[in-house]
Amino acid sequence: MKKRIAIIGAWISGLTLANRLNSTFEVVVLEKSRGIGDRLATRQAEPFAFDHGTQFFTARDKKFTQFITPYLRSGIVQEWIGKVVTLEVNKKTTNRLWFEPHYVACPGMNNLCKKMADGINIRLNCEVAPLSFKDSKSWHLVDKNGESLGEFDLVISTVPPVQTCKLFNTFLPENTSISNSKFLACFTMMFGFHKKWDKTWIGAKVHNSPIEWIAVNSSKPGRNDNHTALVVHSSNTWAEEHVNDDLQQTEIFLRRELNKILNIELSFPDYFSLHRWRYALLSKSHDDKTRNTPYFDTNLNLACVGDWGSRSRIEDAWIDANELADKILM
Ligand SMILES: Cc1cc2nc3c(=O)[nH]c(=O)nc-3n(C[C@H](O)[C@H](O)[C@H](O)COP(=O)(O)OP(=O)(O)OC[C@H]3O[C@@H](n4cnc5c(N)ncnc54)[C@H](O)[C@@H]3O)c2cc1C
Repeated sequence: MKKRIAIIGAWISGLTLANRLNSTFEVVVLEKSRGIGDRLATRQAEPFAFDHGTQFFTARDKKFTQFITPYLRSGIVQEWIGKVVTLEVNKKTTNRLWFEPHYVACPGMNNLCKKMADGINIRLNCEVAPLSFKDSKSWHLVDKNGESLGEFDLVISTVPPVQTCKLFNTFLPENTSISNSKFLACFTMMFGFHKKWDKTWIGAKVHNSPIEWIAVNSSKPGRNDNHTALVVHSSNTWAEEHVNDDLQQTEIFLRRELNKILNIELSFPDYFSLHRWRYALLSKSHDDKTRNTPYFDTNLNLACVGDWGSRSRIEDAWIDANELADKILM
């Protein structure tokens, strides 16, 4: 009989693992959301669509490049090309060079994971409760309502560190690299306008502002560019300081800050939404090159992996998930 593995989280880390382990083990992916995507999500609000988490991804690693090649051939992944600028209040707009290809999934960011989910046994709407019981052989998982999810020989968490620590509870030793990882928040504003985007740039990095990034989402390949869909990220430092603030006040403040930067009428969008990411990106200085290997306890049969190992990037999450899969398959 094949060993049973539960993978918690159906996004890039979880699905990468599931694809690697599926033929050797009986794999079940347990995902709390009703769809696949999460931080690589796409918000549909016809006729607008917003990739309100991950904006794009790079492919610096040879194996990751090989992984995306078939998706590039089929058009599910495409390069996002256009002018990117740097903006700052009262300063001249300057061009910003992208020195490597920036890829997006089409028609929305979540489509890559949807394709990766083909042939995988995934249970959606299934929030796993903190682990509490293991007999000599297996883990007994239950969902947040106490319903049994079955018995598993190995449990792998791919959810962000704070949530993994809650899930693994006292079974995770103190002072592991995962328990020491800190994730920062981010606020995302989504604006939709029933008119074409009329500026020459498609993305803007913002300096010295609580706003950090503006993307013309409708300019990405495979999107509807007869309308304008803007995705605006706050800076992570600002968001972390204000993560528990009243959302209405946050919206008023961030919209006012955006108005100072963008010289366009933003007061009456045809669509608006604000999203709060409590755990968006790993807190790490740019020159910190440390890399934490995935956690794998072969005595307890527990493992965790995600984008806390090196950087919060799709490519790094994929690399680390493969490293854990190699160890499990060894
Ligand atoms: C605002 C923002 C912007 C970003 N921009 C970029 C970018 O431009 N480029 C880039 O490369 N990366 C970017 N990232 C980072 C990128 O999104 C992550 O590195 C990547 O999504 C990590 O994938 P993951 O599978 O490790 O984790 P996640 O995407 O967090 O997946 C974990 C999954 O576990 C599920 N889950 C959580 N708890 C439970 C539970 N108890 N039971 C069951 N399921 C559970 C969640 O619903 C989720 O689907 C960005 C992230 C954010 C938030």
